[in-house]
Amino acid sequence: MTVQPASAGEGQAAAGLPRVLVLATGGTIAGKADPRSAIGYDAGSATGQQLVEAVPGVDRLAHLQVEQISNIPSQDMNHKVWFRLVERINTAFARHEADAVVITHGTDTMEETAFFLDTVLHHEQPVILTGSMRPGSAISADGPANLYEAVKVAASPQARGRGVLVVLNDTIHAAHWVSKADSTALQTFVSRNAGPVGIVDPAAVRFYGPARVRLALPLPAGEQLPAVDVIYAHADMDGRQIDESVRAGVKGLVIAGMGDGNVSAPAMQALDRAVKAGLVIVRSSHVGDGFVNRNVEVDDDAHHFVASYDLNPQKARLLLQILLAGGVQDVAAVQQAFAFGY
Ligand code: ASP
Repeated sequence: MTVQPASAGEGQAAAGLPRVLVLATGGTIAGKADPRSAIGYDAGSATGQQLVEAVPGVDRLAHLQVEQISNIPSQDMNHKVWFRLVERINTAFARHEADAVVITHGTDTMEETAFFLDTVLHHEQPVILTGSMRPGSAISADGPANLYEAVKVAASPQARGRGVLVVLNDTIHAAHWVSKADSTALQTFVSRNAGPVGIVDPAAVRFYGPARVRLALPLPAGEQLPAVDVIYAHADMDGRQIDESVRAGVKGLVIAGMGDGNVSAPAMQALDRAVKAGLVIVRSSHVGDGFVNRNVEVDDDAHHFVASYDLNPQKARLLLQILLAGGVQDVAAVQQAFAFGY
């Protein structure tokens, strides 16, 4: 199989195939068997080039250029890699080096990377994340099919203008909703509340409807994100972790609340102390489905809290970080960003 490099500044390749830049970051899709046990493996071992070479027929979908951005399990994903990805994608599109981007990535934090990129990238060109639940060394490894389908979506004109998408197991998800929902199953990704935005079937890439209107925020300057903690709510919760976060100097807190974003009375008092100390507090939920609305069980107006709507705690954290980095800390303005599109 020939994997041809995309040439800079030539527009669509001569053969009519789109040029897809594959940015490899690691994950189980790049995992190799670990001799320690029959089921063990090391994520982030194979290179992006090796991944592409293991996908029969992908060269008939697009001209591929492969670059290695990192090779880490995605539990180690971090803002430095995100800023590297943003820089590379912006450059590739600005210089007309590629018509679309596919990012190979571990599934653990794929939704966070997708959401971060979706919020700070403002291109019409498709940016698709894919990965796998089984390493390449497994029987029925899912990586090659997922990578094939990700390239297929990236190459599809229908994927333009839809922001950052996640493609795994024949299913297309939008960054806003996608979430990992099963620790081992191949069909791990769900889109809470909304459902997937499309499918990849043998005949076509099919989207179910128009793209969701997206919030386009500026990329935080200085390649830094302010510290925001996520605190998980549970029965018998006290205010200790909240007070500790305030002491540690974080700029905001996201509560992975019970139900529709609830915490216990002692935790509520600690949150009030945190507001007085100048932190922005976002109430999200660890339930999974449904919205956290303003002023239902909690009087957000009185407490000066923000309701996360349908953003899960890990994505609420990212949105708050990006807003704070851009100088948006007024509660009403932060709330407006969380409610955008609804
Ligand atoms: N822990 C792995 C990772 O996120 C899991 C996977 O990729 O499926 O890198």
